[in-house]
Amino acid sequence: MENTNPIEYFDVIIIGAGAAGLTAGVYTSRRALKTLIISKDVGGQAALTTEIENYPGVGLVDGFDLMNRFLADAKKFGAILKSEEARKIEKENEDFLITTNSNQYRAASIILAFGLTPRDLGVPGEEELKGRGVSYCATCDGPLFKEKNVAVIGGGNSALDAAEYISRLAKKVYLIHRRDKFRGDEILVERVNKISNIEILLNTNIAAIVGTAKVEAIELVDIENKPIKSLAVDGLFVEIGHVAKTDWVGELVEFDDHKQIKTNKNCETKTAGIFAAGDVTDIAYKQIIISGGEGAKAALQAYKYLQQTKGIKGVNIDWGVAKK
Ligand code: NAP
Repeated sequence: MENTNPIEYFDVIIIGAGAAGLTAGVYTSRRALKTLIISKDVGGQAALTTEIENYPGVGLVDGFDLMNRFLADAKKFGAILKSEEARKIEKENEDFLITTNSNQYRAASIILAFGLTPRDLGVPGEEELKGRGVSYCATCDGPLFKEKNVAVIGGGNSALDAAEYISRLAKKVYLIHRRDKFRGDEILVERVNKISNIEILLNTNIAAIVGTAKVEAIELVDIENKPIKSLAVDGLFVEIGHVAKTDWVGELVEFDDHKQIKTNKNCETKTAGIFAAGDVTDIAYKQIIISGGEGAKAALQAYKYLQQTKGIKGVNIDWGVAKK
């Protein structure tokens, strides 16, 4: 049905409600910019991490809880959150028109902070058995595998985190990695090594996922693709990194070789008024605190841009070396 509502105008529209987007929302709304956050979900990748112990100042914290605190802070200062999927951005003179799955909005500036998407393993059986034992989120789906046998594939922090979490619920966890060494943090590797119901299978890959109505087994191969064995499991957690799904943004921004959005050190993209922050950008380290910091930076830069182009007045930009 055609949407006949007038198109609402915002000073800033933030796309994505993970650590970067929510922090940007705190900063823009705190400077009294009319702020809309559009996101399919809240908390992004951080909300899927059960135990976060490297976010300074708060001790051990559940990622979902931490992200809800970020959201509460953004809302406290007036940011509005809409659970929609942004699908198109068009430039209209100095402003932008954003089309989502159900609405359109106009904005004087945009902050792209929609993070990354889990990477598929790309083997036979994966597509058919998604949601039937093949999962990309240990925190969301782990409780479905109480007392079952499951496998986790991947060699980074996500796989190590997932294996540790699921080992508390499942009977047995096979942690499968294609190299002879994990690339995740040593502290997590040590912890996983000590857990008695985790069996680590190195130099191993998965060639196929087998099952009719649900996952029943995985076919293991060595690094030369020679069959090792069929392993009976009830579930498989794919934790092999992420990809940037940025094509929909079109030519308003530039991408690196991994389709991540290129930014300068002030989170500016090639289009004036469009900023980007967090994991979706070409920054080197994908960490909550870094995404949060980048979100804050993008927000301050957007604020400066709006001051200069629209004459928006407000609290002045941060501490810095005073110009003589
Ligand atoms: P990642 O560090 O990129 O690791 C991905 C892993 O998957 C690698 O070991 C890679 O193998 C493997 N892999 C990739 N494609 C594969 C394929 N087709 N088949 C089999 N294995 C494949 O990704 P991540 O673990 O999701 O972490 C992403 C970022 O988030 C990292 O910066 C990480 O530190 C951060 N993170 C941090 C925490 C924490 O601090 N607690 C928790 C989660 C994530 P190779 O080793 O052979 O490349």
